[in-house]
Amino acid sequence: MARFKRILLKLSGESLMGEQGHGIDPQRLADYARQIEEVHRMGVQIGIVIGGGNIFRGLSGSQKGFDRVKGDQMGMCATVINSLALSSALGAIGVKNKVLTAIRMEPIGEFYSKWKAIEAMEAGYVCIFSAGTGSPYFTTDTGSSLRGIEIEADVMLKGTRVMASTPPTPRKTLRPRNSPLSPTMRSTRAD
Ligand code: UDP
Repeated sequence: MARFKRILLKLSGESLMGEQGHGIDPQRLADYARQIEEVHRMGVQIGIVIGGGNIFRGLSGSQKGFDRVKGDQMGMCATVINSLALSSALGAIGVKNKVLTAIRMEPIGEFYSKWKAIEAMEAGYVCIFSAGTGSPYFTTDTGSSLRGIEIEADVMLKGTRVMASTPPTPRKTLRPRNSPLSPTMRSTRAD
């Protein structure tokens, strides 16, 4: 019996790049897909928000001369690219899933609504929420909190590369034991 009925998983863009330092590592993507499939098989309803930092971030773009709003839109497109990659990896192992976009862009994904998402999750689809909040000047961390509340998730899990608090390893992956959602999950109760 699964502990949670519905979860919101946030994956940072960086978590998809593996050891490559940029882009998407297909091996890492396949690992995530397998772990998600494991949790899905337990009957847990799963919503996922993916970042885009492995491809583009609006703030860094604006520091290099890009218009901030256009840069953020590029960042949101990056989250869509990552979402499609995860959707493809899940599909390849037989996990039914839907990409929902915060900005209209059919046929790449369906336009997000809370009710569409809940209906899909109840029908056994993993929902991938892409394009963050759909607005510039936000990040996918805000997007995941928003989606988590909207879909009434019991818990929000975050997979990311985090800064270690002590040297000598400046970047460290947290691997909580017994978590089917390793490598890097930190959980926040929604209540
Ligand atoms: N972004 C945005 N609005 C949102 C979510 C994301 O404008 O609601 C843009 C923003 O430029 C951000 C980029 O998309 O830097 C990628 O998202 P984020 O930095 O959160 O990705 P992560 O760090 O999780 O990989």
